[in-house]
Amino acid sequence: MTVIAKSSSAGLPITRFLWLDLTRKCQLACTHCYNSSGPDGGHGTMTRRDWLAVLDQAAACGVRAVQFIGGEPTLHPDAPNLVAHALDLGINVEVYSNLVHVSTEWWRLFQRDGISLATSYYSDQAAEHNAITGRPSHARTRANIEKAVSFGIPLRVGIIATDDAQRVTEARRELEALGVTRIGLDHARPFGRASGGREPDPSGLCGNCGHGAVSVGPAGDVSPCVFSGWMAVGNVHDTSLAAILGGTAMERVRASIRSTASQGICQPDICEPDHWCKPGYPDSGCNPRY
Ligand code: SF4
Repeated sequence: MTVIAKSSSAGLPITRFLWLDLTRKCQLACTHCYNSSGPDGGHGTMTRRDWLAVLDQAAACGVRAVQFIGGEPTLHPDAPNLVAHALDLGINVEVYSNLVHVSTEWWRLFQRDGISLATSYYSDQAAEHNAITGRPSHARTRANIEKAVSFGIPLRVGIIATDDAQRVTEARRELEALGVTRIGLDHARPFGRASGGREPDPSGLCGNCGHGAVSVGPAGDVSPCVFSGWMAVGNVHDTSLAAILGGTAMERVRASIRSTASQGICQPDICEPDHWCKPGYPDSGCNPRY
């Protein structure tokens, strides 16, 4: 599905894509995690009812695709229900999972029409992969990649380069041998644990944040993208999604990001930009965990 951000009659880009950033809980503790998720993370203040309302409002606003992300979205107790609701609304769904543990219920869901899967991978060598994820996760993720391919579930895998010596070429070859056809390559983004303790810097964003896409986080904050959670422009606990998307705060932040975002964040030599080169867009090779 191609996600197209046309302009509304007011000249604002129509939001076609939404990240549902469900949780900060994750089995892993990756060194580059852009929102510092991990085993101690929580699910935030959004209730199941709140998330369902966000999906209903998103559909009414013209959203055509959502990505469930976190943290590990499959650890959120309401995620299966939310995914099913999005599909029932006719919204395309991508679930961005570390594929460490996939229950029978999730395998069943992943085989529904309109849903696809994305994951991150680091190396063909378990020790190198595990050193990045902070847990012995390589074998499980690899096995579940194989299983997803065997089920014919649409899958894209992002190889994230955290240093120049990493076996990214070998990782790509291994994924190709496993039958994965959509493989992206990118670098760690300078946020969360990858920031080295520095304040978030908008120049690390790609510049397209908020143009046709927004993110809703575990506390209900709406931000221009999944990386820019600190730039909240409203909260769905007290304001409708439509009002936030059309509000002046959103317009101001869009302009501010455009003026300061790094021109080099998307690097054609290591990344493969495509028409929808936006982190998380289902048709894009630009991967949100990078
Ligand atoms: S990068 Fe993804 S898998 Fe790794 S800790 Fe963060 S949320 Fe979990």
